[in-house]
Amino acid sequence: MAGAATGRPKDSYPSLRSWTMAQIRSRNTKPEIAVRKAAHALGLRFRIHDANLAGTPDLVFPRWKTVLFVHGCFWHLHHCERARLPKTNADYWTEKLQRNARRDKAARRLLKRSGWRSAIIWECQVKDAAKLDRILQRLFDLAGANPRRRSR
Ligand SMILES: [Zn+2]
Repeated sequence: MAGAATGRPKDSYPSLRSWTMAQIRSRNTKPEIAVRKAAHALGLRFRIHDANLAGTPDLVFPRWKTVLFVHGCFWHLHHCERARLPKTNADYWTEKLQRNARRDKAARRLLKRSGWRSAIIWECQVKDAAKLDRILQRLFDLAGANPRRRSR
């Protein structure tokens, strides 16, 4: 069900709020799939959407005791251009997005407490495949391992 929620036009939702919730809860988004592909190509083994862990991380790497969240820049308040707040309903959005950011932070704190390392991969970082590769290699200490594996 790739992009099931994000693919639906805004006016097919009963209200702005329900559209918003659909966006936030959406799984298997394009950036998420890109990260999975990149991790897979690096030979990393992972599970997805583990609801037993705080925040239901998008990718879980048990061997590395590491989880990754793939976050949309807007929805999770990244400090980048994609995350600019809409001018209408500014208060609504500020409150909503800050709540998301707080929830993210709380989840990562809980994970840390139970011995998991967590990292965020931002939507804007996924656009650049080489950059994404470097991020993953750094996270999993793969620099130098299979350096030619993904090049064609
Ligand atoms: Zn961003």
